[in-house]
Amino acid sequence: MIALPAFRLMHPTTLAEAARLAAEPDARLIAGGTGLLPNLRLGLGKPRTLVSLDRLEELRGISHSNSHLRIGAGVTLEQLSRSEDIPDALREAAKLVAAPGHRTAATLGGNLCLDTRCVYYNQSEHWRRSNNYCLKYGGDTCHVAPQGKKCRAAFSGDLAPALLALEAQVETTARVIPLEELYRDDGAAHLALAAGEIVVAVRIPAPKGRSGYAKARGRGAIDYPLAGVAMALALRDGCVEHLCVALTGTNSRPFVLNGTEAFIGGKPDQAALGKLVQKQAGPVRTTVIAADYRRQAAAILARRLLGRLSQGDESWT
Ligand code: SF4
Repeated sequence: MIALPAFRLMHPTTLAEAARLAAEPDARLIAGGTGLLPNLRLGLGKPRTLVSLDRLEELRGISHSNSHLRIGAGVTLEQLSRSEDIPDALREAAKLVAAPGHRTAATLGGNLCLDTRCVYYNQSEHWRRSNNYCLKYGGDTCHVAPQGKKCRAAFSGDLAPALLALEAQVETTARVIPLEELYRDDGAAHLALAAGEIVVAVRIPAPKGRSGYAKARGRGAIDYPLAGVAMALALRDGCVEHLCVALTGTNSRPFVLNGTEAFIGGKPDQAALGKLVQKQAGPVRTTVIAADYRRQAAAILARRLLGRLSQGDESWT
């Protein structure tokens, strides 16, 4: 870790002012700072301006309307982890992020916009310089896939899969889009946000059934997901009426699993779901844990989560 670079810290009080400042060259947004500040102390970026989001009223609060639950991007993970008012998948995901101290500062918006991670990138300046840096920052070769021209760093936020499984939309300063459209399959530029565009809130429609989140990580007490799986499930008479599964930690973007409509009308089939996850999870050598282990872990998490959510009585359907 090195000292933070010199920067000016701005505290806009309106969204318009925040967007204007964020659109300036070499400006970065900062909310809780739990992802950004460690990266800056590793020498990953030298922003001239940090635009703090801490004084923006529009980013606060959890509210209900007839059509959806709205959660401000500035709501902290600690607030989410103790809220009885939100779907289980989101609360469970928030509880599994980092440690209690981090969750007090970290925000929903920050977790959605978390930078992708790679064992060749999240290292000290000295370490990266010794390896001639890499394609994502300062170099011209990807050490994970040297023949390729695309960064494969893994998205490692826990809240995005939960919100994807819940079919959430994201509200930015410019538009309202399905959350899936916030992400691109590119580890070096995984957010589809224009310069100065700020994530303001998420909108979650009424839940279609039960939901949950499960995560595999290197250290049980505090770590990014090696693989994370979120699920929304509704059963009727013991058969699947609705199933949506989303993954994190294995690809450069969080994504919704394709092909789950094939489960509709049948009994919850854990083995078939595990196979579907294995086919679509695409981890590569971006962590010290083997990629194949992460693929298998994702499949097992999905199988177990389907088992957990389909157990018990069906009075909730
Ligand atoms: Fe760098 Fe390749 Fe890792 Fe991306 S996947 S951070 S380009 S080594």
